[in-house]
Amino acid sequence: MKRRNFLKNSTLTTAGMISVPFLASCQENPKQKTAGTDSNKTIKPIAICTWNFMNATAKAWEVLEKGGSSLDAVEQGVMVEEADLNNETVGNGGRPDRDGRVTLDACIMDKDANCGAVLCMENIAHPISVARKVMEETPHVMLVGKGAEQFAYEQGFKKTNLLTEKAKKEWLEWKKDSQYETIINIENHDTIGMLAIDKDGDIAGACTTSGMAYKMAGRVGDSPIIGAGLFVDNEVGGATATGVGEEVVRTVGSFLIVELMRQGKSPQEACEEGVKRIMKKNKDREDFQIGFIAINKKGETGGYCIHPGFTYRTYSEEGHINNPAESFLKG
Ligand code: ASP
Repeated sequence: MKRRNFLKNSTLTTAGMISVPFLASCQENPKQKTAGTDSNKTIKPIAICTWNFMNATAKAWEVLEKGGSSLDAVEQGVMVEEADLNNETVGNGGRPDRDGRVTLDACIMDKDANCGAVLCMENIAHPISVARKVMEETPHVMLVGKGAEQFAYEQGFKKTNLLTEKAKKEWLEWKKDSQYETIINIENHDTIGMLAIDKDGDIAGACTTSGMAYKMAGRVGDSPIIGAGLFVDNEVGGATATGVGEEVVRTVGSFLIVELMRQGKSPQEACEEGVKRIMKKNKDREDFQIGFIAINKKGETGGYCIHPGFTYRTYSEEGHINNPAESFLKG
C-alpha cells in the first residue's frame, strides 16, 4: 500500500463508533468565547484540554485550585482519561493495533523545557506517569517499546492487561473484513492533550493516546513527539494536538504554534495558521481531522480544526467551558 493510501485508510473506521468526548457535555460555549480576552487581565490558574474531556479538566482544576503545580495538574488531569475504560482512545481500554496489541504513547513537558516521553509501550496503564519518570529520573527524553515497559516496572508500575473485552470484540469484528468508512470526527482517535498555568504563572503540558485504532504494529503518531503533539515554552505559551498524527509531525505543529505566538499571534491566530500550513501541504485531501489548542502566558486560549466538530475544554475562574472550535472547512 502506498504511504498516502495508508494514511488515508488510517483515518477511517468502522461505522457507528461514536467517540466518548462528543457525548459528554457540561457548559457549552457556542460563541467560542476565548478565556482571557480582556487584554489587561491574566487568567491563572487555568487548564485546557482537547475534546470534551470534562472529568480531566475538573481534576486538573482541583490540583490548581489547591495551589498545585501545572505539571501535577496536567499529569493528574490526563490520568483520568487513561484510567477510564470507556475511553477507547487513551490509556487502559484503548483500541489495539491491527495485531490486537494496545500500544500507548505519551509525553510531558514542564516550565523549564524538561520533557519525557514513552512510545509504543504495552501493559502499563499510565504512560503519562512513565513519561514523567523518564523526564525526572533518566538523562533521556524518549523510551520506546520494551525498554519503556521495563523502565516502568523498575519504577514500580504494575503490569496491566490494557485490552478490554469490549475493545477485543470490536477488533475481532473489524478483522472480519477490515472495511473502512470515512466518518469525520468519529475516527478512532481522540487524544487528550492538556495545558495548564498554575498560580505562579508557570506552564506545563501533557499528551497521551492509544493512537490510531488498528494502526500498523509499531506505528507512532505525533502525540509523544515533543514539538509535534505537544510543546511548551514558559516564556510564551503551549500548544497540543489531536488528529492524524502523521500530518502534525510533518509541520511540527505544536512547536510551530508556540513560535507563532512568540512572534505576536494570539493562541487562536496561531492555531489557525497551524491548520492552514497542514492544508497547504494537503491540497488534494480533506478526509482527515486535526485539532490544535493553545494557551499563552496571559491565559488566553484558542483552538482550531480542519472539520467542524472539534471542541476543547477550559477550566478557570471564568468557568468550566466546552468550546466548539472554528474550522478550516465549513462542513
Ligand atoms: N494524534 C494521535 C495519533 O496520531 C491520534 C489522535 O489524536 O487521536 O496517534
